[in-house]
Amino acid sequence: MNHKVIIIGAGISGLALAIFLKKTGIECAVYENFPYKRVAGSSFRINKSGVHVMKELGIEDQVQENSHSADRMRILTTDDIEIASINLMQNSVFSRRSIYMQRSDLVEILMRQAELVGVEIHYNKKLTYFTQDASNITAYFEDGHQETGTLLVGADGLHSTVRNQLFPSHVLSYAKSWALYGIASFKDMNSDPIRQLMEGNELFYFTQNANFLASKSHPTHELNLSWQASGHQERKRSKEEFDFRNLDEIKSDLIQQYGEHGALSEIIQNSVQIIPKQIYCVEPIPSWSKGRAVVIGDAAHTINPNTGYGCSVALEDAMYLALMLQKHHYADALYYLEADRKERIRAIQSSLDIFDVSKGFDFSSGFDIGLFSGSKIDADYTIHWETEHQ
Ligand SMILES: Cc1cc2nc3c(=O)[nH]c(=O)nc-3n(C[C@H](O)[C@H](O)[C@H](O)COP(=O)(O)OP(=O)(O)OC[C@H]3O[C@@H](n4cnc5c(N)ncnc54)[C@H](O)[C@@H]3O)c2cc1C
Repeated sequence: MNHKVIIIGAGISGLALAIFLKKTGIECAVYENFPYKRVAGSSFRINKSGVHVMKELGIEDQVQENSHSADRMRILTTDDIEIASINLMQNSVFSRRSIYMQRSDLVEILMRQAELVGVEIHYNKKLTYFTQDASNITAYFEDGHQETGTLLVGADGLHSTVRNQLFPSHVLSYAKSWALYGIASFKDMNSDPIRQLMEGNELFYFTQNANFLASKSHPTHELNLSWQASGHQERKRSKEEFDFRNLDEIKSDLIQQYGEHGALSEIIQNSVQIIPKQIYCVEPIPSWSKGRAVVIGDAAHTINPNTGYGCSVALEDAMYLALMLQKHHYADALYYLEADRKERIRAIQSSLDIFDVSKGFDFSSGFDIGLFSGSKIDADYTIHWETEHQ
């Protein structure tokens, strides 16, 4: 079947899907709401399944040059007392390791690769709605442009327009947690934990009602100390109390919480940007597709950032959809995407029931390694391009 795939969203899953579709010879184009703008401060962990997808995308070398892969995580109290030092059991092969990197670096690498393989990316194109019949689907954009194809993929993130049209009653709801994303330079910091960070370890501070993870996010950028803090909060804070706080106000809130001394305080004081986010999620939707419209990534299944899996599963979705479209009639491809991937998504989402770092921990009676066990996530999950074709 000759496809023309309309991809909504030039984020992680949309760009990855376009590159894979080009690889399979399927015609596609990407439509993105905003012009591209680099956003400093946003960083995330990508698990080894996601890094393996990057290898299949042909961007492994660029990713290796622009990311950091720690061998060890040190768990500390806010007074910098070490509770545990965990060997992250990283593989020696880069595509089998988990990494930490800045979102903008990954988006730029994906954009360059998409251009290289001839993907058209149209910016300033905001999807407003779509219509479909037995043989076609048409996307309508805010500027009056319309585009007809055989399949429409909503890779349009948390606030997905495609999902909202497919399932209008599935609205976002507050997930009872908040997150802060910060970035700093190592310059002028020299305590022992900071030296550990510079040498490549990750630092994890558990407190009673929040956690704080700091990692290198790039080997050479001047601003390459990235951190995320997150905590549990039953009732959403008002925008004045949280979303609208400026850098100095957020720093002073954190210092009040964690104290003025120690590495944590040093990192906070030296941060040049801190992005506050209250976490929202959507209840599982009844189906990832209807007719010729399908959603992938955050649009299909919101993943709480505390799991550290959002970007990895978005990459996995993109690769798996391209594989299925190459092998099957589109209706089967959409069926297999959901049927084969749903269990993995459920395992990742439910991992927070067992180990929700946003709730913090009380280590007064010692550190229990059992906290880390019990998850049903398959740590060796890998999608192989070649074997899937045999
Ligand atoms: C600016 C930004 C910063 C982020 N920062 C972090 C972070 O610090 N840590 C973290 O863990 N996760 C972060 N995320 C989320 C993370 O990137 C995603 O969870 C993950 O990568 C899943 O990717 P995705 O492709 O499903 O969605 P995304 O990567 O979010 O991409 C969705 C894309 O669709 C576009 N779009 C949305 N609606 C429309 C429309 N109607 N028409 C056209 N285009 C549309 C958006 O502009 C966006 O480019 C961030 C996302 C964004 C957009």
